[in-house]
Formats: sequence, C-alpha cells, structure tokens
Amino acid sequence: MSDPKTCLVTGGAGFIGSHLCDSLLSAGYKVFCVDNLLTGQESNLDDAKKFPLFTFIRYDVIKELPILGTLDYIFHLASPASVVDYQRFAEETALVNSIGTRNLLTVAKAHKARFLFASTSEVYGDPKEHPQRETYWGNVNPNGVRACYDEAKRYGEMMVKLYYRKHGVDGRIVRIFNTYGPRMKETDGRVVSNFITQALAGKPLTIYGDGKQTRSFCYVSDLVDGIMRAMFRDGLSGEVFNIGNPHEFTMLDLANKIQGMVGSASPIEHGKLPEDDPVQRQPDTSKVEKMLAWNAKVSIDEGLKKTIEFYKNLP
Ligand code: NAD
Ligand code: UDP
Repeated sequence: MSDPKTCLVTGGAGFIGSHLCDSLLSAGYKVFCVDNLLTGQESNLDDAKKFPLFTFIRYDVIKELPILGTLDYIFHLASPASVVDYQRFAEETALVNSIGTRNLLTVAKAHKARFLFASTSEVYGDPKEHPQRETYWGNVNPNGVRACYDEAKRYGEMMVKLYYRKHGVDGRIVRIFNTYGPRMKETDGRVVSNFITQALAGKPLTIYGDGKQTRSFCYVSDLVDGIMRAMFRDGLSGEVFNIGNPHEFTMLDLANKIQGMVGSASPIEHGKLPEDDPVQRQPDTSKVEKMLAWNAKVSIDEGLKKTIEFYKNLP
C-alpha cells in the first residue's frame, strides 16, 4: 500500500478548519494542523486527535514556516472570520491573508504542493451584481472598517494567481459564503450563533437595521465537501469557485425561523446596522455545479436543528 498523502491545514483549530481536518483524516490523509489559536480552540480538535495520522502545531503563519517534510496539499484557512473577530484583530487579519498567504505559497512552491486559499464572498463587498458570479469584481470600500478583511482577502487571491502565473504553483481559490454549524464560537458575533444563543437563553434577538438585508447560509458539511472537491480534482489550477448555499433569505426570516425551532418567545430588538454591511448576498453556484458536480444538500431546517443541538449541549 502507498503512503498516505499529506495535507497541511492552516486555521485547523477553527470552526471550518476543524471539520475539514476531521473529513481529511476520515478519508485517510495525514494531516498537519497549524493554528495559533487566535480565534480557534484546541477543543475543536478532540475528534481529530483520535487519529494517529494527525499532528497539531501551535504556530503563527505570519512567521515563516518550518520545513515539515513531504507535503502534498496546503489548505490555507487561517484568518479571523467573523465581523467581530476581524475588527478586534484587524492587523492580524490583514497580515495572515497577505504575508501569511505569501509564506504558504513559498512552502507550496518548495514542496510542489497543491494550494487552496479560503477566500470569501466579502471580496464582492456590497455587491451591485446579484447573484454574484466569480467574474464579478466587487464593490469594496478600501478604507472602511471591513477592509482589513475584504482587501486582505483580495490581496491573498492576487498572490495565489501571481504564484500560479509566475511559479507554476497549482493554486485554487474558494470564495466561501456565510457558513454555519456546530463549533461556531458562542461569542463570535455571527448572526446564526447570536440568534440561537439568544433564543435559548430567552433573551431578545438582536436584528441590526430593519432586518431586510439578505444572506444565504451553507451548512458546514456541504462547504467542506466543496472545499475537498476544489482541492482534489485534477486540472483546476488557477480556478476560482464560489461555494455557498444559494437559498437566500432576510435576517428577519432567519430570526423568525430560529424562534420557531427553539420554541422561544423572545422579542426582536432592532439595533444599529454595522458600517458597510452588505444589503444582499447570494452565490451564483453554476460554476461549482458544472465543474465540481457540487450542490448544497443540507436544508436550512436540518442544519439549524443540528446547530441548535450543539449549543444546547455545550457545557
Ligand atoms: P475561525 O475564526 O473559527 O477559524 C480561523 C482559524 O484561524 C482559528 O482557529 C484561528 O486561531 C486561526 N488563525 C488566525 N490567524 C492565524 C495565524 N496567523 N496563524 C495560524 N492560525 C491563525 O473562522 P472560520 O469561520 O473557521 O473561517 C475559516 C476560514 O474561512 C477563514 O479564512 C475565513 O476567512 C474563511 N471564511 C469563512 C466564512 C464563514 O462563514 N465561516 C465565510 C467566508 C470565508
Ligand atoms: N446581524 C444581525 N444580528 C446579529 C448579528 C448579525 O442582524 O446579532 C446581521 C448583520 O448585520 C448582517 C447579517 O446579520 O447583515 C450577517 O451577519 P454576520 O456577521 O453573521 O455575517 P456577514 O456580515 O459577514 O455576512
């Protein structure tokens, strides 16, 4: 039998990264998880640690990386991701997506490893095209409070394409749309974690603005499936993919749904809309459907049920 292929997952102790580590290990890969625990938690790796082919390395990828021996695949997910986290760690966010991405691309080049960058729907800013296709260049405020994230991800994408064109690195970019599920931190300030924890505690659900802004929410297992397809399919060097569930609804709809599912009588409380909050967001998924044969499979009801259970069972 041949040796298992080796993956490096940066940000592997975070919400999405830890689910990705679990799926890679279950599929038989050897996994190095590199994470400085800025916004992640080592407890997210409890399942991964049961696999002998798993290694956790606490390290900041803004610094140059040590040589890890053979590496076949690099998944670069390290970055604060929620609006609250990336505004609290604005400089760290800007650096991990710029210098961190460049560091990891040099590692990919040296190891001849395939590289995947976790970008975001935020590269489209407050989009003027709807739904958003990969060819849309976006509407981003370069000086706004979200720029530490949006612009750093755009820079990271540029660097992936630069290493692809100049050095022949087999780089792929996935633009992740709002994703939810178990292991989202209770305190990360995202709308799904906020509404569920508020409803479970019988506290008011905090809707920012009038609640008519839209998002499209993808359950984490669907997203991980899409990320793995984008990485492991041959012949996709230099490609950019939207990955997200195209089912779009308003934050008012989401609040009502969660109240109903939790059986909560909490009132709705309107607060100030954050600066540069996008009005509408929905992925055009025709490219992933065609090139990766990927579709979101988990309905919002099914995904929210599992996520509510997760928060109910937290110690
Ligand atoms: P998360 O905060 O749960 O995980 C990010 C992980 O990166 C954390 O464990 C954190 O400690 C680690 N990290 C941050 N800076 C680091 C550094 N310098 N060195 C090493 N580790 C570092 O966030 P998430 O929701 O799991 O997001 C993962 C990735 O997916 C991010 O790149 C994010 O931008 C992207 N993304 C997520 C969403 C979403 O809806 N969750 C949407 C779009 C894009
Ligand atoms: N939001 C809200 N109440 C909350 C948290 C967020 O109404 O308690 C809104 C937020 O203003 C945004 C949407 O929900 O319009 C999604 O916010 P989130 O931070 O989850 O993701 P992002 O803004 O990055 O899409």
